[in-house]
Amino acid sequence: MTFPPIRPELAGIEPYGAPQLPVDQVPVQLNVNENPYPPSAECVADIAASAADAARTLNRYPDREFVALRAALASYLSRDVSGEIAVEQVWAANGSNEVMLQLLQAFGGPGRTALSFAPTYSMYPEYARDTMTAWVAGRREDDFSLDLDRARAMIEEVRPDVVLLPSPNNPTGTALPPEAVTALCESAAEDGIDGLVVVDEAYGEFRRAGVPSALELLPAHRNLVVTRTMSKAFAAAGLRLGYLAADPAICDAIRVVRLPYHLSAVTQAAALAALRHAPELLGNVDQLRAQRDKTVAWLRDQGHRVADSDANFCLFGTFRDRHAVWQGLLDRGVLIRETGPEGWLRVSIGTPEEMAAFEDALVEVIKEMS
Ligand code: PMP
Repeated sequence: MTFPPIRPELAGIEPYGAPQLPVDQVPVQLNVNENPYPPSAECVADIAASAADAARTLNRYPDREFVALRAALASYLSRDVSGEIAVEQVWAANGSNEVMLQLLQAFGGPGRTALSFAPTYSMYPEYARDTMTAWVAGRREDDFSLDLDRARAMIEEVRPDVVLLPSPNNPTGTALPPEAVTALCESAAEDGIDGLVVVDEAYGEFRRAGVPSALELLPAHRNLVVTRTMSKAFAAAGLRLGYLAADPAICDAIRVVRLPYHLSAVTQAAALAALRHAPELLGNVDQLRAQRDKTVAWLRDQGHRVADSDANFCLFGTFRDRHAVWQGLLDRGVLIRETGPEGWLRVSIGTPEEMAAFEDALVEVIKEMS
C-alpha cells in the first residue's frame, strides 16, 4: 500500500512553484513577474487602517458576496472600456489562479476538455488535472503568435468546453489581437455548444500602445471571460486578489462552486483600500514598460533572441545549456526563471538598478561560458 493514499495521477508530483530564496542571499529577484515597487507609506497606512477596521468584525463571517469590492472592481475595469462593466459581471477570488480553478470547477470536470496553445501558462494543465478536466494543448508558431486558421481548426476539432488564452502570454509575452479573440470566441460557440473563451489578462496593463483589452469584446460574446489580477501591474501580489469580468450568468455559475466566504474580511478591506490608491499603485507601469523595451533592445544588441513582449518580463535565449546560464546568474545574486521552451529563459522587469545588475551578470556569465 502506498501512503498517503493520494489520487494515483498526483503521486510523486512536485508542487508547482518557482524557487523562493531569501532576499538577503539573492538580492535581485526577477523570477515571478512581480512589480518591484512597494506601496508608499501613505498607501500602507490606509491598508493597515482598513485591515484594522475589518479586524474589529473578525468574530463574524465576511460579506460572502463581497459586494463593495465587486463594485470597486467594476468601476476600476470600466475605465478600460468604452461602455461600462456592471457589478454582476465581476467575480473575484484569492488570486486569478483561484478564479481560473473555479472556472474549471464550474465549466470543466470529468468528460469535459480545456484547451490552450503551448507554450502557455504552466498552471493551466494543473487546474485541469485537479478538476479532472481533459487537457489538450495546441501549438503556437515559432514567433509564439497564434496561427488563427490552425487555432480555429483545432477548436472545431476538439470542441473544448474551456479555451484558456493568456494575453499577454506567459512565458512569451505575446499579446493577442482583438480579431483573434473574436474569431476564437466564434469558433468556440459554434454548433450551439458555447465553449468558454478565457482571456487571461494577468499582464494586460503592460500591453504596448494600440493593443486593446479583450474587455471591449464582452458585449459581443457571451462566452468570453476576461481575467485580471492585482498581482502584477497593480503591485499587490501579496494581497492575493484576482478577478474576472463576464456575462452575469457565468458569475452566478461560479457561485455554485466557490467555498463560502472565500474572500476574508481582511482581504476585502485591503483590496478596497488598494483600489483607492490605484493611480499610485499603477504609477510605475509606464516606467516598467519603457524598461522592458530597453531590456529587449539590450538583449538583442547582445545577440540574443528575444520574443516581442507586451508584459513585464521577456523571454530570451536560446542557450545550449540554459540551466548553466540560470545558475551563473544565481551565483551572482540574480534570480531569473528557467521556464518556457527548451533553451529559453525568462527575466521579469525590475528597477533600473536591478536590470543593470542582471545585464552585468549576464555579460559575465556568457563570457565565462564561451
Ligand atoms: N495568469 C498568468 C498568465 C500568470 O502568469 C499568473 C501568475 N504568474 C497568474 C495568472 C496568476 O496570478 P495570481 O494568482 O497572482 O493572480
